[in-house]
Amino acid sequence: MGAIRVGAYSVELSHEDKLLFPRDGITKGGMVDYYRQAADAMLNELRDRPVVMQRFPDGIDGNGFFHKDAPDYFPEWVDRVSVEKREGGRIDHVVCNKAATLVYLANQGCITLHHWLSRTQSLDHPDQLVFDLDPPEGKFALAASAARLTRELLKELGLHSYVKTTGGKGLHLVVPLDGKVPFDSVREFAGAAAQVLAAQDPDNLTTEFRIAKRRGRLFLDTGRNSYGQHVVAPYALRPRAGAPVATPLQWSELDADLRPAAFTPSVVLQRIEKGLDPWSDMYSNGQSLTDAWRRLKRL
Ligand code: ATP
Ligand code: MN
Repeated sequence: MGAIRVGAYSVELSHEDKLLFPRDGITKGGMVDYYRQAADAMLNELRDRPVVMQRFPDGIDGNGFFHKDAPDYFPEWVDRVSVEKREGGRIDHVVCNKAATLVYLANQGCITLHHWLSRTQSLDHPDQLVFDLDPPEGKFALAASAARLTRELLKELGLHSYVKTTGGKGLHLVVPLDGKVPFDSVREFAGAAAQVLAAQDPDNLTTEFRIAKRRGRLFLDTGRNSYGQHVVAPYALRPRAGAPVATPLQWSELDADLRPAAFTPSVVLQRIEKGLDPWSDMYSNGQSLTDAWRRLKRL
């Protein structure tokens, strides 16, 4: 118990010895420490974005829940943004602009953070497009090859892309955007690109939403590119045994043998300490979709 100083803020910690990942020996204090050290790399991505907290007060073997609204009891220095819900009404989301907020949320048993694809300045205009590559269970190699194929198509369209493990079975491929196009058009573009990809490799890739119709193929999910939707944050822990971290990769690291589970908190902190943060330049690189659309339509 006690308070720690994180930047200009004092964060009160509680039950630091509580085991959140019992088989991995990771306590709440250990997780707080991880997020404190990963904070700078995370804030690059999280800054000004509404986040959703995935909390497990009793650890990963207990009940977990998605928590969207920032409670009144959170300190006033935890930033919030009031957003309009698609179904009507408003909700206050937490915004992580400070390392102290990440530490505070970790102490709240928030194992995983998820973020919107847009920022508070323009909530209806995403500054990134995400292809959620969902292979069948145990087929990570398929995700790796799909990511490469997607990257090649995007290159032909004139777009740079970035990749991260999800800590689960697949990958997220991210295209940083200039934020000039609303969600509906970004999703339409992503859907059209996914159809081109599925046509290039119909034995392995599909845009089929219904699981039964996927027949062992990887699902190119572009539905995340919508107002109010979110994706797992880079450097977030996932609530499963081994404490896998959603980890930004260099393209050169991605091959069929890569094991997403190998990216544990200690491995990830070593990468960050060595200065290996493959996404650090992402937002010097916000791209226009205008020319890419024109090229895609010609394919
Ligand atoms: P995997 O690689 O195993 O697919 P993932 O994080 O991509 O991991 P998905 O099920 O494909 O998991 O979901 C994509 C994103 O949608 C997640 O990163 C998460 O932010 C969000 N999401 C998934 N399931 C839920 C849920 N039940 N409630 C709220 N958000 C969810
Ligand atoms: Mn996925």
